[in-house]
Amino acid sequence: MRLSKYFLPTLKENPGEAQVISHRLMLRAGMIRQSSAGIYSWLPLGLRVLKKIEAIVREEQNSMGNQEILMPTIQPADIWRKSGRYDDYGPEMLRIIDRHERDMLYGPTNEELVTEIFANSIRSYKDLPQLLYHIQWKFRDEIRPRFGVMRGREFLMKDAYSFDINSEEARCSYNKYFIAYLKTYASLGLKAIPMTADTGPIGGNMSHEFLIIADTGESEIACHRQYLEMDLSCQDIDYNQDLQPVIHRYTEKYAATDDKRDPAIEKALGDDVRTARGIEVGHIFYFGTKYSEKLGAKVSGPKGEEIAVEMGSYGIGVSRLVGAIIEASHDDKGIIWPKAVAPFKVGLINLNISDRDCTVACEKAYNDLDSAGIEVIYDDREARPGAKFADMDLIGLPWQLIVGPRGIKTGSVELKNRISGEREEISMESALTRLLD
Ligand code: ATP
Ligand code: MG
Repeated sequence: MRLSKYFLPTLKENPGEAQVISHRLMLRAGMIRQSSAGIYSWLPLGLRVLKKIEAIVREEQNSMGNQEILMPTIQPADIWRKSGRYDDYGPEMLRIIDRHERDMLYGPTNEELVTEIFANSIRSYKDLPQLLYHIQWKFRDEIRPRFGVMRGREFLMKDAYSFDINSEEARCSYNKYFIAYLKTYASLGLKAIPMTADTGPIGGNMSHEFLIIADTGESEIACHRQYLEMDLSCQDIDYNQDLQPVIHRYTEKYAATDDKRDPAIEKALGDDVRTARGIEVGHIFYFGTKYSEKLGAKVSGPKGEEIAVEMGSYGIGVSRLVGAIIEASHDDKGIIWPKAVAPFKVGLINLNISDRDCTVACEKAYNDLDSAGIEVIYDDREARPGAKFADMDLIGLPWQLIVGPRGIKTGSVELKNRISGEREEISMESALTRLLD
């Protein structure tokens, strides 16, 4: 991609409306533009990151044996009346009336719709378990949309649903999601701590939220200090093994979001307790037969008896993650993308496009990288070096390959690692070898 032709409207000044760093940086790096409160357009650079996160989330869902579907954004009100949530949901739900005066709504979540799909199609316990997910835009008319894409009104969520014959099987499904979430966050270059969450009337220990520690988090969390050092990446864990001991290992110590904190436990923990602010990036929840009873999701059991299926739902905030990653990874110059989600791997900077040697070397490097499938953005604009450096630091690509008229005379370039900050003067050849690695 040539920067001279790329739609990258960066801003020098901090936009006044943005309170948190990720929102400021996303606006300044030309990733998003607000359309109305809590509703954003994704520009080329932002969309690339969103798609990368989406792909990582999708890959792990597929690996755990989950099946992707795509449900619509607009849903009929009837199924929400059946579940009893049409009135309960309140003003967060965007209600719509179609031309035939039918009540519709823009889905804030999909339990009802997926349960109806299941109820119309699955009849026997032999067809269980079923795990289904989709990645779709949601709308919640949040009372206070803020922090950019982290608390939007329209946002992208991966939501999954499990259908099992009994509570033991449901727990197995739940455990798979738990592990899949930890693997997903690790692949994104993040550490998210599982914390006990509210289970409502069902009780037990079957709801967890996953939180990233960041100063701008909306939740004041507390956890055992061991979580901060623990390896939560679940790299060697296989979905077919007994996951219960693994889950136990990751949940036995104290970790709670603000509404679940327990002063007595924290007092007893003494020096071992850490408090911090956290951003919720995922939530898994086992709720039994709450929706299957009301929406008729029943199967026939081994003896022909009718059984309401045991369900759970599992969400990851895909668009929120874009902001959350920036909150966790930036410096005073801009974003520092973890490799896995960086919009491009390399930013190639031509310090003087009127210098023939410089431009010839850059064109060749650009073609070599591009044809090797390396994602490269080439700053071929007619602009001052200072402006080029500032933009490249702002958009935070893992590598910068800097080519200037003086160095190129002796064949040397500068390779800068945006993550470690290291800069090296090396030959163009070794720089390319490193980047092609
Ligand atoms: P919160 O407490 O932050 O409002 P929630 O409990 O309402 O979240 P869920 O219904 O569990 O959220 O949704 C699953 C995930 O979707 C959340 O973990 C979060 O990452 C994301 N999410 C929820 N609301 C928003 C929003 N307004 N903007 C962006 N992402 C959101
Ligand atoms: Mg909410």
